[in-house]
Amino acid sequence: MPLDSCDFHQAALFFDFDGTLADIAPTPGQARARPRTLACLRELARRGAALAIVSGRSVESIDALLKPLRLAVAGVHGAQRRDGSGRLHRHRGPDLGAATAQVLAFCRDRPGLCCEIKPGALTLHYRQAPAQAAACRRLLRELAACDPGLACMPARMAVELLPRGVDKARAVSAFLDEPGFRGRLPLYFGDDLADEPAFACVQSRGGMGVKVGAGASVALARLASPAALRAGLVAWLRQRP
Ligand SMILES: [Mg+2]
Repeated sequence: MPLDSCDFHQAALFFDFDGTLADIAPTPGQARARPRTLACLRELARRGAALAIVSGRSVESIDALLKPLRLAVAGVHGAQRRDGSGRLHRHRGPDLGAATAQVLAFCRDRPGLCCEIKPGALTLHYRQAPAQAAACRRLLRELAACDPGLACMPARMAVELLPRGVDKARAVSAFLDEPGFRGRLPLYFGDDLADEPAFACVQSRGGMGVKVGAGASVALARLASPAALRAGLVAWLRQRP
């Protein structure tokens, strides 16, 4: 565990949610962090650790999943960001009304697809209809090509339409420029393609990316699963009372 040699008063901890703190669920609405994982986050917060969630979900969705804990959060890959002092920053992207209507119409005829509408972004999930992967990616690529303010990003069994210029590395950098995070050793835990820029960001600032699960990654460390991360956090908190 990369935490073992590190005091949490010297670390800035960044966690993705799905596939990192919580196991991947059949649909995004079913994902939950285990009670022990939530207890670790609560304990880290109680002890004054610098920590933030950096997720493709909205800030509101993360708050609902961590309730009553209210942490610093980058939502929608950083299009929304609640900083360490509780202030909310929003990236103003293009209106997605027309694109959303097209995606919803596309999903109507294709059972198993799920369009998750987020503030300023959308995610088209095909976990329940993997044969639709190529068609989903093509549709969102075409929609992004119609608007220079939009970008299409592949994800785990999903594809996303986001404001251009938004990514998790920028969100992590913004946190690291804040007084509560600045000067600490940044550690970023994530499982997906969207986490790769954040791994590179923390590593360029002397920290370490920790890839959770299988797959190629630029991260310098790896944990097998959300369960392995949970076990590592429990051990770390015990070891450093
Ligand atoms: Mg994830």
